[in-house]
Amino acid sequence: MRIVIVGGGPVGLMAACELRLYGIETVVLERRPDIDPTIKAGAIQGRGVDALDRRGLADRVREAGGERLLAFQNLMRQHGIRGHFSGMFVLREGSYGGEPMLPVAQQALEEVLNKRAAELGVEVRRGHRVLEWHQDPDGVTLRVAGPEPDPEADAGSEADPYELHADWLVGADGGRSLVRKGGAFAFPGTDGIITGYQAVAELDDPDFVPLGWNRREHGMVVNGPNPGRLLLVEFDGPPADREAPVSPEELQNALRRISGTQVSVKAITTVTRFTDNARQADTYRDGRVLLAGDAAHVHSPFGGQGLNLGLGDAMNLGWKLALVARGQAPDSLLDTYTAERHPVAARVLDNTRAQVALMRPGPHTDALRGIFAQLLAHDDANRWLTDMMGGDDLRYDTGSGLDAVGRFCPDLRLDTPEGPVRLAERLRSGRGQLFVVTAQETPDAALTPDAALWIKTAAEWSDRVEVAVGTSVEAPSRAVLVRPDGFVAWTAESEQSLPEALGRWFGPAEGE
Ligand SMILES: Cc1cc2nc3c(=O)[nH]c(=O)nc-3n(C[C@H](O)[C@H](O)[C@H](O)COP(=O)(O)OP(=O)(O)OC[C@H]3O[C@@H](n4cnc5c(N)ncnc54)[C@H](O)[C@@H]3O)c2cc1C
Repeated sequence: MRIVIVGGGPVGLMAACELRLYGIETVVLERRPDIDPTIKAGAIQGRGVDALDRRGLADRVREAGGERLLAFQNLMRQHGIRGHFSGMFVLREGSYGGEPMLPVAQQALEEVLNKRAAELGVEVRRGHRVLEWHQDPDGVTLRVAGPEPDPEADAGSEADPYELHADWLVGADGGRSLVRKGGAFAFPGTDGIITGYQAVAELDDPDFVPLGWNRREHGMVVNGPNPGRLLLVEFDGPPADREAPVSPEELQNALRRISGTQVSVKAITTVTRFTDNARQADTYRDGRVLLAGDAAHVHSPFGGQGLNLGLGDAMNLGWKLALVARGQAPDSLLDTYTAERHPVAARVLDNTRAQVALMRPGPHTDALRGIFAQLLAHDDANRWLTDMMGGDDLRYDTGSGLDAVGRFCPDLRLDTPEGPVRLAERLRSGRGQLFVVTAQETPDAALTPDAALWIKTAAEWSDRVEVAVGTSVEAPSRAVLVRPDGFVAWTAESEQSLPEALGRWFGPAEGE
């Protein structure tokens, strides 16, 4: 059994780690020889932070973020801000709470994931570019170009492409995904209307505009938060060629046009060009081929949501694909991947479109922004938007009428005879978790008949679900079944019985 992932960006690496938790041979094919140093994401938020915490990686990412991360977090705490919408720094506390944001460069995250993948035994082949693929009922065959030979040692020759067989293929190969283009995936959406740049550059006048987001007659210019970091948005249509290198003159001209100053670019450390086309694959599955991350959805970077979406895809897909690939769960479990994740990305696409609409120059947008800002001064409206941006209000449609089921489970703590147990720590195994809560007053008393039955039932799924029993002052129910991705699958109050819920999410019991 081998699963191949095309793309060794954050989503491909995260998905690979998830699969290795189930012992599956996992090969990541990444065309770049090393991690891309170009400036990209600068922060992870909401459920993305929780996803890392539930796999024991949040501390490593915090460490990688270093002083800059702490300084940025302190600043946000000081001002009571959790994030922005269209450059309006108004978002306050969300419903779920938790750590609001991990301001960390995408490269630092990729380093952490790369190391974790190596620890778990993922085979990451860097410098291996997938050229094409086809599938049949038994699997997928890929044609791959290996690393270019050393041009000096082996002048003129080319690496021979090789074939690789996979039982399943995951396309995590970014917005222009070759995997998506080669499969039965439509990619509908809207075209870009802006040209944006993100850069770190040396300017002759670093204070050419005030720090923060500046809305001007021809677009937006963001100065900071780090020295030299710039973000520009111009409403002159999408770039003619997004691949062409950005010259200092191009960046300088855009800076001057938007800011109305004569600022000069002395040197560029890193720069990227982007637009706001918003497109999404109509399905995330074509037979044995699945899409995750930017390969499944693209949108503008406003509000910093792409990584969260992609990490969420990887967390949702990993255990489902692992259980189906191992023959433990029926194929239909994989269909819940598109059903659950497609609406989440569709919502992000829409909120990024709305953010671009609110950036458009002109008096009509000025008026709209004014009204929007006033609305967000109201606590309810502010929380609603913050919850949407952070995914705090996310609830998968599991068919249950209970509000808790399908929602992200808070980090529950149980006091067990062996000591305290934290849900986020238990989830590091990548297995489902059944938390059974005994009475606070009589923790040592015999279990209630219900609790004893739940524990006995879960034992039949012991290779996929772990059980913890203890007292708790915070647990929302006498028993909670949490999926490996941290979402509630069942509680003691559920309409479904526990065996039904276990069978639905984890396949038949052992030996069935
Ligand atoms: C300017 C900018 C700012 C952003 N800011 C934020 C932010 O603050 N917060 C946030 O959450 N998100 C942000 N994003 C979005 C975030 O960077 C992306 O969502 C994220 O990179 C998606 O990860 P991915 O692994 O799906 O795709 P990618 O990071 O694109 O990785 C895909 C990988 O596949 C490889 N690949 C492609 N084709 C092949 C092939 N044929 N064979 C082998 N390998 C292949 C590529 O080399 C690449 O390494 C920002 C994006 C931009 C452009």
